[in-house]
Amino acid sequence: MMKQHALFCKKCKTRLTHWLVPIVADDQAQALCHFKECDPGAEPVDTVPPGYGLVMADKVLQARKDEWPGTRIQEGIWLSLSDLTDAVCYTTLTRRLSGCCGPSGIDGPNRICTCGAEVGTESSDCWTLRNFVSETKNTEWKEQE
Ligand SMILES: [Zn+2]
Repeated sequence: MMKQHALFCKKCKTRLTHWLVPIVADDQAQALCHFKECDPGAEPVDTVPPGYGLVMADKVLQARKDEWPGTRIQEGIWLSLSDLTDAVCYTTLTRRLSGCCGPSGIDGPNRICTCGAEVGTESSDCWTLRNFVSETKNTEWKEQE
């Protein structure tokens, strides 16, 4: 069992997520995650179940690339929107929040830290994945001491 990890803001060191169990192996990712866009009208399902942080890199990333050829897969930590702390706010760039039922996340990072750093992208429209993806250059994925 890997130690729990959380996402931190690189700039101000604030913790941005609950403590999460990392998913790094693709068989585990396949078993736990829901790699499917939401269905308009149906109850939305989180891509990554609450309590977990999917590390989208290496074999996990390669498997998604094979599964979704031609799609741009965002690298970073993928997690449930319900695992974000209150330190994570919405951007004031309204264009990045465009969507039908929620931000689609296709216009760039739309979630910021209280210090203003862009820390990730929420997708939660009725036809997208329901997910948060970290902005790797502005965040740190650290294990619990
Ligand atoms: Zn910050």
